[in-house]
Amino acid sequence: ATLARIRIAGFKSFAEPTNVEVRPGLTGIVGPNGCGKSNVVEALRWAMGETSAKAMRGGEMDDVIFAGTATRSGRNLAEVTLSLEDAEGLAPPPNQDQPELEIVRRITRGEGSAFRVNGKEVRARDVQTMFADIGSGARASAMVSQGRVSTLIQAKPEDRRQVLEEAAGIAGLRARRHEAELKLRQAETNLSRAEDLLGQLD
Ligand code: ATP
Repeated sequence: ATLARIRIAGFKSFAEPTNVEVRPGLTGIVGPNGCGKSNVVEALRWAMGETSAKAMRGGEMDDVIFAGTATRSGRNLAEVTLSLEDAEGLAPPPNQDQPELEIVRRITRGEGSAFRVNGKEVRARDVQTMFADIGSGARASAMVSQGRVSTLIQAKPEDRRQVLEEAAGIAGLRARRHEAELKLRQAETNLSRAEDLLGQLD
């Protein structure tokens, strides 16, 4: 899958809807300090399912909503839309054959956020797992934020392994295994309850 477009509206410094086209050959974003370069990358990470407000440089997740400036009032809603091309087979079931995949995350002040993939509401975990899977593909998606390089060098081996696993896309598989284990445990509980009932019938 290839990221083709990021649409940002009401997120951080982007009060007005802004389209960022990601064309082949894009290698950097330039601009004066504080103009919002990092906010573009944060919008991308946020829509990919980032759950840490701290990683978004805020105290709480609502802080990603445009807070207003001296001349402009704040918003109550922020929305980021990612358009992925060549995404066949990535969407959750009913959209398998749709070639372009649209992932939308929207947050409403005081109400938390919601995700949609091609119009269908999904859980944050579904979006995270989907991107973790893309990371395991041929064009691995690895994001390194400012300060992460020195953190990585100083990190404990276990923490460093976690970062490498994320980059290699293994993190998605681990999340899947965890989910499967939870389902298995639930099934075992159901089974023993059914056996109890059977025992009472005998
Ligand atoms: P630098 O080159 O210094 O790293 P940058 O271009 O990466 O800067 P960002 O860090 O992306 O800039 O953007 C910072 C700007 O975003 C600041 O002006 C800050 O006031 C603004 N900003 C961040 N969050 C919000 C918000 N919730 N509402 C309004 N503006 C915000």
